[in-house]
Amino acid sequence: MSDCLFCKIINGEIPSQRVYEDEYVYAFRDITPQAPVHILVVPKEHIASAADIDENNSHLAAKCLVAAAKIANSEGLSGGFRIIANSGPDSGQTVLHLHFHILGGKPLGTGLVATE
Ligand code: 5GP
Ligand code: ZN
Repeated sequence: MSDCLFCKIINGEIPSQRVYEDEYVYAFRDITPQAPVHILVVPKEHIASAADIDENNSHLAAKCLVAAAKIANSEGLSGGFRIIANSGPDSGQTVLHLHFHILGGKPLGTGLVATE
């Protein structure tokens, strides 16, 4: 996708702090970290959101999760971490390229969503 921010990051058009890369997956530090460790894991192939995962591309989502486990290990997140994939307007998704946030490095609290 020519005008997709994360496609541009994947192809190097926009710089990023890469933490992991393989044939299917690219991972980089979030520009506005919300925890001591905040990394975005994305499939190299453009998928707009979690709502667009299907039988044909689900292996790419799985590759992202395999990468996330490796990254959590390499980042020393032995105390645990959280994976979030915002999807669609109600979730607050701002970049329409599937991405898994990895958040960790401190206790993250028990709530999954804002309560107000
Ligand atoms: P969303 O809100 O769609 O779930 O997450 C998008 C994330 O992308 C946000 O956490 C935001 O900080 C991050 N982000 C937006 N633009 C850039 C950028 O140019 N570089 C990096 N590294 N992260 C970005
Ligand atoms: Zn894209």
